[in-house]
Amino acid sequence: MSETTPRIVIVGGGFGGLAAAKALKSAQARVTLIDRTNHHLFQPLLYQVATSVLSPGQIATPIRELLRKQQNTTVVLGEVAGVDKDKRIVWVNNADRRCVPLTYDFLILATGVTHSYFGRNEFAEFAPGLKSLADAVAVRNKILQAFEQAEAEEDPARHRDLLTFVLVGAGPTGVEMAGALAVLIRRTLKSEFRRINPESARVILLDMAPRVLGSFSEGLSWAAKKRLEKLGVEVRLGHGADKVDADGVIVAGNRIFSKTVIWTAGVTPSPAGKWLNVGTDRAGRVRVQQDLTVPGHPEIFVIGDTASLDQDGEALPGVAQVAIQQGRYTGKLIRRRLCGKPAPRPFRYFDKGSMAVVGKNFAVLQSRQVHLSGYLAWLAWAGVHLEFLGAASLRVSVLVQWVWTYFTGQRGSRLIVNHRGAEPAKPPIEQAPAA
Ligand SMILES: Cc1cc2nc3c(=O)[nH]c(=O)nc-3n(C[C@H](O)[C@H](O)[C@H](O)COP(=O)(O)OP(=O)(O)OC[C@H]3O[C@@H](n4cnc5c(N)ncnc54)[C@H](O)[C@@H]3O)c2cc1C
Repeated sequence: MSETTPRIVIVGGGFGGLAAAKALKSAQARVTLIDRTNHHLFQPLLYQVATSVLSPGQIATPIRELLRKQQNTTVVLGEVAGVDKDKRIVWVNNADRRCVPLTYDFLILATGVTHSYFGRNEFAEFAPGLKSLADAVAVRNKILQAFEQAEAEEDPARHRDLLTFVLVGAGPTGVEMAGALAVLIRRTLKSEFRRINPESARVILLDMAPRVLGSFSEGLSWAAKKRLEKLGVEVRLGHGADKVDADGVIVAGNRIFSKTVIWTAGVTPSPAGKWLNVGTDRAGRVRVQQDLTVPGHPEIFVIGDTASLDQDGEALPGVAQVAIQQGRYTGKLIRRRLCGKPAPRPFRYFDKGSMAVVGKNFAVLQSRQVHLSGYLAWLAWAGVHLEFLGAASLRVSVLVQWVWTYFTGQRGSRLIVNHRGAEPAKPPIEQAPAA
């Protein structure tokens, strides 16, 4: 490749960015993929790390490893801080340098979303969300720590707060997390403690919406709620969290005392719209055209969760399939442009359906006319998730773990791991010399 070979910069190695990079495998171009983490994360299984079924290494793969055979692609660990779209430069911060300029001929922004506390950022301190591997490990620590603290606590009155787990948000993440937490409590932990009865723990799932899994049909939403209740989850709908603090949550004027509140509600897009200074939707997602480019800039593409595109009068959902299909489309479009071929037809999302799992042996599946709940949907859920894991080694490892957990109830990774650096050892207390 020479210095004149076109340079394509992809920001984000999630579902969208990775699919775009792979689609550019045979392109006569220098491709650079930048991500602030060194791994591609399979977010749909994050809740299984948070509830100790899987370990972090089972749902993430180094991006470098995934793209090792792509000679035209360089992977850079760094955080993009801005874009100069007139000079065609991306500004990158990395471990020891700030605002390193990287020029591009084509730019693909696939930077996803982060948690949104709907303007109540003070909740973040008490209610961690679930978006990254670090989040999942932090939530896992918090859940396991609560049981340890309760076991060590002599005063039974204090067990109530420690053994009440509140999830705010009854979308797929909240429902899946609540189901998995109920199974952890009622199956895995039940015989391991002596002072406390883990089965007395409460799992409360809150949402201001009138039903769980609002994006699914009413029938499937009802089936998921019934299943959660069967698992012992208290589902409280119609009121959101008015306040979250160190003592728990206030809902419709009533306090729920809890030491573990987990935020599974809203998300907000990456600042791609601000970097580009272009039109966004109300949520802040960049409005893209039918070919996924930004108006007036045919060389800039925005894809996945951080992009906003309507299809048949409705906004495309923030799901992995949209990001993957947009990534592939963008790669194809750029490849064709580089060869001087006509552009492909406008992007069209093919909806393969949605699924959510509720504890063991039960999932809901909605795909066009097919609406399914129960064991068959659960098998389909397991098959699809295995298929989409980043690497073959992960598929084998996750399958083995699932089978083991299915038959024994034992979890893969029930460790409380404090990732803060070890505290320096304190000097021994000096004894007063004998008189
Ligand atoms: C807990 C959870 C469960 C989910 N479950 C499902 C599910 O069951 N089914 C489904 O279809 N979808 C699910 N989703 C949604 C799905 O994961 C997203 O729709 C999908 O990841 C979007 O892909 P993306 O490429 O747009 O963003 P992401 O996959 O989030 O990737 C964004 C990437 O950009 C990187 N990045 C961000 N900002 C910067 C920056 N400034 N500089 C450098 N790098 C940056 C990030 O590190 C990340 O690697 C779930 C999401 C979550 C959080």
